[in-house]
Amino acid sequence: MTNKMRAIIIGAGHNGLVTAAYLARAGLDVLVLERRDIVGGACVTEELFPGFRVSSCSYICHMLQSKVIDDLELRKHGFEVHPVDPYRFQPFPNGRYMLLWQDHERTAEEAGRISRRDGQRVRDFYAFWGRAAGILHRYFLKEPPTLAEVARAVQGTPDEPAFERMLTGSIADLVEEHFESEEVRATFLDAQDAGDPRAPGSIAAMGYIMCDIFTELRNWGIPHGGMGGITQAMASAARAHGVEIRTGVEVRRIAVGRGRATGVVLASGETLPADVVVSNADPKRTFLALLDAADLPEGLADGVGRLKSNVAYFKFHCALRRLPDFTRYLGARYDLRFLTQVRICPSVGYFEQAWNEARNGIPPAHPVMHIQVPSVLDKSLTAPGTHVMSVWGLYAPVHPHGGTWDELREQAGRNIIETISQYAPDFKECIVDWQLFTPLDLERRNYLTDGNIRHLDIVPGQMFSLRPGYRTPVAGLYLCGAGTHPGGEVTGAPGHNAAHAILRDMRRVK
Ligand SMILES: Cc1cc2nc3c(=O)[nH]c(=O)nc-3n(C[C@H](O)[C@H](O)[C@H](O)COP(=O)(O)OP(=O)(O)OC[C@H]3O[C@@H](n4cnc5c(N)ncnc54)[C@H](O)[C@@H]3O)c2cc1C
Repeated sequence: MTNKMRAIIIGAGHNGLVTAAYLARAGLDVLVLERRDIVGGACVTEELFPGFRVSSCSYICHMLQSKVIDDLELRKHGFEVHPVDPYRFQPFPNGRYMLLWQDHERTAEEAGRISRRDGQRVRDFYAFWGRAAGILHRYFLKEPPTLAEVARAVQGTPDEPAFERMLTGSIADLVEEHFESEEVRATFLDAQDAGDPRAPGSIAAMGYIMCDIFTELRNWGIPHGGMGGITQAMASAARAHGVEIRTGVEVRRIAVGRGRATGVVLASGETLPADVVVSNADPKRTFLALLDAADLPEGLADGVGRLKSNVAYFKFHCALRRLPDFTRYLGARYDLRFLTQVRICPSVGYFEQAWNEARNGIPPAHPVMHIQVPSVLDKSLTAPGTHVMSVWGLYAPVHPHGGTWDELREQAGRNIIETISQYAPDFKECIVDWQLFTPLDLERRNYLTDGNIRHLDIVPGQMFSLRPGYRTPVAGLYLCGAGTHPGGEVTGAPGHNAAHAILRDMRRVK
């Protein structure tokens, strides 16, 4: 027994591990409880096919905050990234293609091959993101401001128009205003959690992801051993600070007495007491499944139920006996690293159609696809000569019409295979085996409510202080996951900020 404060963390997602490490570093006695047999949540490597290891959910390390990496000495604990440059190869049905490079001037040259004028506009386009995403990024490792506070901070500065545009403008307008060629527009169009690229505020949804332009290149890329390489390093760092991590342990309920969290009740029935309980589960699961409505202020459960988790994605994986043939685009002798990340989105209309089908409950016939073949860089994932390919597919209906996901999964997977085959004709012959994760699968496997990859949609109404806070109405209960500010992706920022909020509160109480 010790007289240290005991913190229990529900979930060993990357944010749970980050919170655990910071709290233990500050002297708390920390126990992490994870229901799966592996740590990492949506940041894991799994052997989905015998002899083929894949990053089963997240696949690119592009937003992990340098401060977290350095504070927790993750490199000392095995974190290592393979840089990805070009970071995207974008083929078009007409045989043309674009490469996107970490150096924006090189990307501008690529766009210039398609349209001279568009090549000249690439610098402006990135300048806009430098401002817009910069406004979001400067608050990443801080407690969330209100929108009014951000507005006051930018008022009268050159950031003010970018802030207004981000909250009110559509990403489709932005790319159409900057670029004339359909291919260049399609290359730069992405609406992320806004779904509809014409939605007001879709620039903010994209702006969140564009914060990756501020990530140091040494921390941007494919982690060695897959995304699980990140969370293995985090778990090792946490343990080095004295954290105990138990896997295969599901928390059934958060125990509350007199308005204060007193511990957790496990699925086994055992109760574990704690001074502080921190939930890495998403806000809907935390408030609606792990707490009794009677322990919450009136109206809170309804409000949480109305939070938006409406936009979802597919994750497709396949084991490959050889690389698919993209020679039509790249010629016979090309650098295999060009295939590390491939994106399929030939036009703005194609993007809109994928979204419209998903919005209407239909798995898109031709999804927008972010394809990754990490094994061209990381030889630890497969046997020599063989490869793994993963696809992040946009968009998937959360609740499909015309059948259950168990009935529609096979066809949705075949749609992905057929679409890729239009670009790499021998694709089907390369496949040893494949699996598709629908939003329902992500909910079942990863406990992501509605399969939401960022716990809640990242849209203007759910950014900054409009996202659930680290502190909850139940004293001693905190949230530390992607459902809090600044949001999802593998950033470590919610975990960092939650730990600091807890430590600040403890100092105030003492
Ligand atoms: C398909 C997909 C693709 C993505 N692609 C990328 C990408 O390329 N790059 C990127 O940066 N981000 C990506 N993301 C987003 C990113 O992975 C997530 O936003 C992030 O990992 C969330 O981390 P977290 O720690 O907050 O929560 P999670 O990873 O969701 O962890 C929560 C943990 O809590 C556990 N848990 C929940 N309830 C209980 C309970 N009752 N008892 C015990 N344990 C419990 C869960 O099992 C889980 O391990 C992707 C996500 C998905 C799903």
